[in-house]
Amino acid sequence: MKKFLSMALIAAMTLSLAACGGNSGNEADSTGADNASSDKTYVIATDTVFAPFEFTDENNNFVGIDVDILAAIAEDQGFKYELNSLGFDAAVASLESGQSDAVIAGMSITPERQEKYDFSDSYYDSYVAIAAAEGSDIQGLDDLQGQTVAAKTGTQGASCAESLKDQYGFEIQYFDESSLMYQDVVTGNTVACFEDYPVMAYGVSQGNGLKIVAEEKDEYSTPYGFAVLKGQNSELLEMFNTGLANIKANGTYDEIIAKYTSAE
Ligand code: GLN
Repeated sequence: MKKFLSMALIAAMTLSLAACGGNSGNEADSTGADNASSDKTYVIATDTVFAPFEFTDENNNFVGIDVDILAAIAEDQGFKYELNSLGFDAAVASLESGQSDAVIAGMSITPERQEKYDFSDSYYDSYVAIAAAEGSDIQGLDDLQGQTVAAKTGTQGASCAESLKDQYGFEIQYFDESSLMYQDVVTGNTVACFEDYPVMAYGVSQGNGLKIVAEEKDEYSTPYGFAVLKGQNSELLEMFNTGLANIKANGTYDEIIAKYTSAE
């Protein structure tokens, strides 16, 4: 019941953010009725606030590395899609329930996830960082004893926090959105948060009021991939991989990364 309600909510809140793609390709398709037409519009789910991968800019446009890479690949491969900004956990849930065909959300390729999803070739490398409020005296994991930290539900950051919780003696409070998690740390409710390094480094450079105090590179170094349900939408996955290779070869990929990561 709860799941049903939350899915209904997601459906209600779903924003149709982009529909893109050129002429439909002539994909030979034998995977089922709903793929029979090359006019298919794929439903792709993403996070809400995960800059520089997806976020709303000052002009109220939904932008980012994931958003632009997907647009470039769809154009290259000639497929249509609708991008829905749901939040990370909700995006993954929508994939599992069949409401979405794929997820692109700075989603880490992990062995556990590979049991349930097929991932594209990776398009970015990441690991987990721990950040505290700029002025706080938290210097690292040892200072978290007896404290509460913030993590985002269903993420690698949360898994990392869960794996260190007992060793360092802290509690975890969960958030659905990265921005809410940062805010909680800035206001001093929780003393630190666990977030992907590229995202936290970008946020710090934008003056989000946090500082990075520790990095978990060993177990939590994971590349990002585009995910579909295992065994499903293989034609979409193939187009993504081919398109990714093409935009890497023609310089578009590098331009997109530079656009969002180089200092102004
Ligand atoms: N890379 C992390 C994961 O896959 C976080 C993704 C996100 O918060 N959008 O769990």
